[in-house]
Amino acid sequence: MKHGKGPEARKRIVITGGAGFIGAHLCRRLLAEGHEVTCIDSFRTGRLSNLDPIATHPGFRIIQADVTRFETVGLDPADEIYHLACAASPPHYQADPIHTMMTCVVGTAAFLDYAARCGARFLLASTSEVYGDPEVHPQTESYRGAVNPTGPRACYDEGKRAAEALAYDHARAGGVGVRVARIFNTYGPLMRADDGRVVSNFIAQALAGRPLTLYGTGLQTRSFCYVSDMVEGLMRLMGHPEPVLAPVNLGNPEERTMRELAETVARLCNVPLRMAQHPLPKDDPHRRCPDISRARSLLGWAPRVGLEAGLAETIASHRQAEHRAAPQILATGTREACAVPSPG
Ligand code: UDP
Repeated sequence: MKHGKGPEARKRIVITGGAGFIGAHLCRRLLAEGHEVTCIDSFRTGRLSNLDPIATHPGFRIIQADVTRFETVGLDPADEIYHLACAASPPHYQADPIHTMMTCVVGTAAFLDYAARCGARFLLASTSEVYGDPEVHPQTESYRGAVNPTGPRACYDEGKRAAEALAYDHARAGGVGVRVARIFNTYGPLMRADDGRVVSNFIAQALAGRPLTLYGTGLQTRSFCYVSDMVEGLMRLMGHPEPVLAPVNLGNPEERTMRELAETVARLCNVPLRMAQHPLPKDDPHRRCPDISRARSLLGWAPRVGLEAGLAETIASHRQAEHRAAPQILATGTREACAVPSPG
């Protein structure tokens, strides 16, 4: 037995965006469970350092490639594809909006074709952003959303909506075993300090003794899911034995205002709360909270890590990162065995 799993149980798994925040946690967990994992990442927002502890694992391969230009024909067949590739933080996905839209559409189309060719299950990492600035609260999967199709968030929101449509077209036309996870705000170790999202911003600012940047009144809400809970939810959704013909919300329904989050982060970092107010970005959703009834009944899944416990872990990992040397590019030992198309 290789890597602790028999050949039937050991799956060949492709993770696009595997060097990103959630992707790297997923790579680590799937390798620890004995699977063979191929990570495909452009390293535009993902980081090689996220893969440090597993980079030389014999069951792991890294392919540096942009999914919008990747030729999947050369890939070995896979049993499962987790399609996570896409910048997910508003400042990052808005920095190159055309590329974001192409990643969602062209990248998803390429990997759905690959799934159809090799008979793999395909999990699309979609997003709560498909609900836009919702008028229904909490958001159920049947709610069709209120997205501004021409605003600065559209590249991501509409991109992911198109990706969902493509996925279900492949399921209907080609029988691809599609799963769509609508991922709500997720946080935890391995988030970049410069990610730009609220949790990492507040922690980085508090630890640096700077005021926390509060956008708008700070009364807008989000519901934050710790990354280990998210990874568990994604794996359960992928592992569900029956076809899953509708999207599934994954997130933590504990809803907080951004003011409450700022107070909690400052308290856990042991610093006095100081805030600097900034304008609310255009189309910033006012409320967001998942209804997770479907995930509970279908997958027996619910988040287990509360906000304070998860923030404490995240703050500890940010503190450690501050003291670590700058990440180095690794010689992975397995990388040269892969096709490495020129980075996009
Ligand atoms: N936000 C904030 N300060 C920051 C970053 C974000 O107040 O430094 C707010 C932002 O306006 C939004 C919420 O926090 O209302 C969550 O933003 P984030 O970018 O984390 O994710 P989103 O849910 O908007 O995709």
